[in-house]
Amino acid sequence: MTDTIKYLLPETEIPNTWYNLMADLPSPPPPPLHPGTKQPIGPDDLAPLFPQSLIMQEVATDREIEIPEPVRRIYRQWRPAPLYRARNLEKTLDTPARIYYKYEGVSPAGSHKPNTAVAQAFFNHDAGIRKITTETGAGQWGSSLAFAGALFGMEIQVFMVKVSYQQKPYRRALMETYGARCVASPSSETNVGREILARTPDNSGSLGIAISEAVEIAATNDDTKYALGSVLNHVLLHQTIVGKEAMKQMEMADDYPDVIVGCTGGGSNFAGIVFPFLGEQLRGGKKVDILAIEPAACPSLTRGKYAYDFGDTGHLTPLVKMHTLGSTFIPPAVHAGGLRYHGMAPMVSHIKDLGLIDARAYQQVEVFEAGVQFARAEGIVPAPEANHAVKGAIDEALKCKQEGRSRSILFNLCGHGHFDMQAYSDYFAGKLTDMSYDESELAMALAGLPSAQAA
Ligand SMILES: *Cc1c(COP(=O)(O)O)cnc(C)c1O
Repeated sequence: MTDTIKYLLPETEIPNTWYNLMADLPSPPPPPLHPGTKQPIGPDDLAPLFPQSLIMQEVATDREIEIPEPVRRIYRQWRPAPLYRARNLEKTLDTPARIYYKYEGVSPAGSHKPNTAVAQAFFNHDAGIRKITTETGAGQWGSSLAFAGALFGMEIQVFMVKVSYQQKPYRRALMETYGARCVASPSSETNVGREILARTPDNSGSLGIAISEAVEIAATNDDTKYALGSVLNHVLLHQTIVGKEAMKQMEMADDYPDVIVGCTGGGSNFAGIVFPFLGEQLRGGKKVDILAIEPAACPSLTRGKYAYDFGDTGHLTPLVKMHTLGSTFIPPAVHAGGLRYHGMAPMVSHIKDLGLIDARAYQQVEVFEAGVQFARAEGIVPAPEANHAVKGAIDEALKCKQEGRSRSILFNLCGHGHFDMQAYSDYFAGKLTDMSYDESELAMALAGLPSAQAA
């Protein structure tokens, strides 16, 4: 064992602002379109779903956006989050690389998601909203919003993908512990849900369906808004606190990353650690290699099409240009539930299109193998989603070993896996399977893309 090196910032170093990459991009991402008119949507179109403050953040171009003091005060419970140098992992791998990880599993819900859940609950509460609806897959987002709702005394209704509702009772119990109401989706509480149940009574649900249900409730009730845990610009913005802290901590380590690795579901934890460094690069700072890792079972960035698509199955959302597998694509039930979304954040898609980042897809088994290797070296059991980033970082470190050069690798350990031990049990029992698609399978869902590739 070598000594652990932990870089801890004092509370006074919690950033005062979130960083907005929009200010430094060479070109803006294509605008969201109204599904009917195919014209760019305006703030008014989003008003039924989000409070004005969050809509303004969604379209903001200022470089720094102030974090309200009440939000910073709540962040203080677990922020600044620690940054570690993974010296035992380095030793295990016998690599000359320097591996760092930012650990977001220290939040009450165990992942990066409370960074935006607390902010979104604050801005909704501030606007006089009483209730927030949302969807959740594996349950990390639902439990994060439930936690935030409890802090502000707001009612939280979570549409949880039915298969997860049945398979992940502890996540559901966590949401209920925080006081949220959790409904299996598709449900009979919405038109969308009732229609789907009439057609397919044993439908096991998908994120796309759950989003449609949550949006419908928010759009039809004045005192209710909707919150999304990833994908949207303002969500990515809130997560940049991760990268801003990491920047200061890398300075404490007297180092700077050559490579940054993150896993990508909707893109928010990846954006959180990457955007502040990418902004620095775009303003003339050091160039960093940036690597997004996704599951081979849901390969939107590596095999999807960069096109306008709906964010949900019920087609209630605006059309956004993103790397997508098609809104009717239902990914197989891999254990990294948080990475099973058919699309990617428009901002992450845009920087991929601009060639500012690379993407790679990994299979489930190799990803758990990496997670177990990490746990045995560093003690922390990563969430299945985070294992993708771990595997990406390990592969980069092994490349350094092969090439005989020492590079600095930073990755986001976006959550712990304490609620996901069934996945580890399945891995040890040899029950995890790998997944690959041929082009025709992927082409099927893509054939249903909306025609309007306008703008
Ligand atoms: C939700 C979640 C993800 C995927 O969402 P992103 O928006 O891509 O970050 C990844 N890891 C963990 C631990 C999550 O909870």
